[in-house]
Amino acid sequence: MKKFRKINSIGYGTKVIGIGFVFLLIIPGIIRILSCFHSWSGYVPIMKGSFYLGVAILLLFGIWLGIELTQDRYINRYYEKHKNEKIPLGENHYECQACGNRLVTGEDESCRVCGIKFRSNEQKNRNE
Ligand SMILES: [Zn+2]
Repeated sequence: MKKFRKINSIGYGTKVIGIGFVFLLIIPGIIRILSCFHSWSGYVPIMKGSFYLGVAILLLFGIWLGIELTQDRYINRYYEKHKNEKIPLGENHYECQACGNRLVTGEDESCRVCGIKFRSNEQKNRNE
């Protein structure tokens, strides 16, 4: 089984994008305005630095988000493929993959809790 990173960018995603745009546009914008009133050779390097920092933040966050989405897709596909299976826990004891009900026996054709129909072993072999 693939190892997953725990990523959940929903909570901080907008903050990261916000910070990225501050460096990308806001700070260079302010410096641009300042440079109209006051000339100093330091403005341009700061502007460029801030701009590239903003680009880097947004780029890294984009990559991070890409990893998260790929993982979500992978987990989702794995779940969709296996939700109709009983996972053996022990002696004639199984767990329903759709709802986590652990009171499933070998004879059960569907889950008593969520009602999902279990795939039999021959159906499983045909699909793989
Ligand atoms: Zn179930």
